[in-house]
Amino acid sequence: MPHLDNSLVRLGFDAHTGMLTHLLDLEGEVVHVAPPDAPRALWKLTFHAGTDVQHVSAPGEDAAVSVEVKTDNAGTQIATLTWRGITLRNEKDALDVVVTVSLPKALAASEWRIRVANRSTRYGLSEVAFPWFNGWPEPNRYDLAVPWYNWGRNYKKVADKHQGEFSSYTWSMQFFVLSAGGRGISIAAHDSRQFYKKYVVDPGNETAMVLLVPNAGMPGTGLDETYPIVINTHAGGWFEGCKLFRSWAIKQPWTAKGPISQRSDVPRSLKDIGLWLISSYPSPGDKTTPKAWADEIIDAAHCYDVPVGVHIYQWHEIPFDNHYPEYFPTKPGFAEQVRRLVDAGIVAMPYINARLWDSQAKSYPGAIPSAAKDPAGVPYLEIYSPQSGRLVPMCTQTKLWQDTVVELCRRIIEEVGANAIYLDQVAAMPAAPCYDPTHGHTIGGGDHWHAGYRIMLNRIKDLIARTGREVVITTENPGDAHIDGCDAFLIWNPRADDEVPMMTAVYSGYALYFSSPHVTDQGLQSFVMAQGRDFIWGSQLGWMSPQLPQPCMEYLRTLGKCRVQTRKFLTYGELVGELVPISDPSKVKDAAEALAHPASVPTVSAVWPWWGQIKPGTLPAVMSSIWRAEDGHLGLFIVNLSEQERTFHCAYDPARYGLAGRTLTDAKLLYTPITTDGPGKSVQASGGVQLRTEKLPPRGVVIYEVAPES
Ligand SMILES: [Zn+2]
Repeated sequence: MPHLDNSLVRLGFDAHTGMLTHLLDLEGEVVHVAPPDAPRALWKLTFHAGTDVQHVSAPGEDAAVSVEVKTDNAGTQIATLTWRGITLRNEKDALDVVVTVSLPKALAASEWRIRVANRSTRYGLSEVAFPWFNGWPEPNRYDLAVPWYNWGRNYKKVADKHQGEFSSYTWSMQFFVLSAGGRGISIAAHDSRQFYKKYVVDPGNETAMVLLVPNAGMPGTGLDETYPIVINTHAGGWFEGCKLFRSWAIKQPWTAKGPISQRSDVPRSLKDIGLWLISSYPSPGDKTTPKAWADEIIDAAHCYDVPVGVHIYQWHEIPFDNHYPEYFPTKPGFAEQVRRLVDAGIVAMPYINARLWDSQAKSYPGAIPSAAKDPAGVPYLEIYSPQSGRLVPMCTQTKLWQDTVVELCRRIIEEVGANAIYLDQVAAMPAAPCYDPTHGHTIGGGDHWHAGYRIMLNRIKDLIARTGREVVITTENPGDAHIDGCDAFLIWNPRADDEVPMMTAVYSGYALYFSSPHVTDQGLQSFVMAQGRDFIWGSQLGWMSPQLPQPCMEYLRTLGKCRVQTRKFLTYGELVGELVPISDPSKVKDAAEALAHPASVPTVSAVWPWWGQIKPGTLPAVMSSIWRAEDGHLGLFIVNLSEQERTFHCAYDPARYGLAGRTLTDAKLLYTPITTDGPGKSVQASGGVQLRTEKLPPRGVVIYEVAPES
């Protein structure tokens, strides 16, 4: 039976059907696919002829199948799987499909590619599900980690269907990780052009990445080779899968401007922020005057005593989600109050939407040619609330839409005087796949949605550079497609306790996230859990009212001040791991043994409202993270999320994190505590695996900078 095998991974194929018979993680001794499992089909194609939709999956009708395996000079094993002459609805010899799978000599990462030749006189290829593992995985076997929502989520023993669209808040990086028993399998699209695509994991039914192909459904459309899908088996789970993706992602066009520390186009004012506020500008006749509105924000900034940003809504006369993009004129006095905020050192960030035109706006008729069109040539329509306008997503490739958003930014900078602009929906909402042939881009699928945004965002960056001012650009939800164009990402969704910091694991040091919105009426415990966890994962906290009640405000103030003291880690550094909870260190005989067998940590629960539902949230009572700064020093962050004193026994191996690039088996270390007031007195410690006991007061925060003793 044809197969690839490099002693790390074995991939087997059926010689008669080309289907996948074996997917074995030899290194971890994990069977993902093997008899008696049914072979997996590898691909499923969707064709369109107008409204006539047809599906073809491997091996296809009448296909002549061949499977060839060879080894190149570098020792890479390559399987070429060919299905020739497939019949499509009685049309003989309509399709050929070629899949190549290559497995390097000493890596567990295999690369999978597909090409489709379409000779049908009637049907155009519209979607390619590849790889398409039908019937896999079995339910309740794997944890599924998907980068979506705020940070990413890890679903234990996944049995439900999950799917999302890249790039949007439903799938913000082009990979996902399945894991079980301490081994992971990551499936990643190494697609530098960021083609619009979807993923689906539906245990018991299918797992796939689904590409909407360029010129989808047009007669004669097939698929030339695009980008590889990389399937990687590895130790660990979601975190290790994120680090594998990071090693590719930080060499891509969207990270080409370098880490945040080297980004001159990312304003210092943003990098320095300790906390965020959110506030709506008052209307004439409101109880709050414009001056009182600004006074409240300035007072809050003084109270928090850290650099503050404020996200400003309702500054325009048009109602929210209506008459976009007619944001001007502003409500009276807005520019004057923004000037006061900016003069007070505050990052003042008005809202606009960078994706929608209201079809009820006076200006809409002129925008119709530039709207994104569905396959029937009709503009899409989105409605967000009973009060919402009838909103139309605009094609990012059109000059009118690019000009419109750039001109809005110019006016917000020059006429309003703001030093930040929030562009709603850019990262949050998926492409509205545009089928308008007059726009000059490929029809339906392709890279045009993100490429259009890139043109728009680069023009905004150029505009800002010409003004000579520092202006922050942010958008909604995380989305790695926009890291080069947006300076920070608003992670505003209500918190869930199954979130894991996938975004930070991949892009810490390259992207900034802000906000930690949470209710204050469910008790301090609930608030502390949400804020403490977001803090150690690297969010710039806040995005809450300037009038936050006590004691929530004081806790947020503490974390904001800690953030400012630890920017070298949380703004510029990399999240590299967490401390391993252990049993009492005085009873540990072997440090390595202790690391391998983490102790359980008591949990703490509180109400975490979730989209209007009252739900419990449960987290470990003590959580931690380890960050590595650019100078190689480590930052240890430990938060007590409970309202009682805790003793936290923990361990970590500094050598694992390449502390200052030195072997630290015997090196002495210096622990410098960091508090709201800055660094404290350093204490020397022996090298090697570190066993520590931390006494944490209720809601306590303990931070150390760890450096080799010089
Ligand atoms: Zn278009």
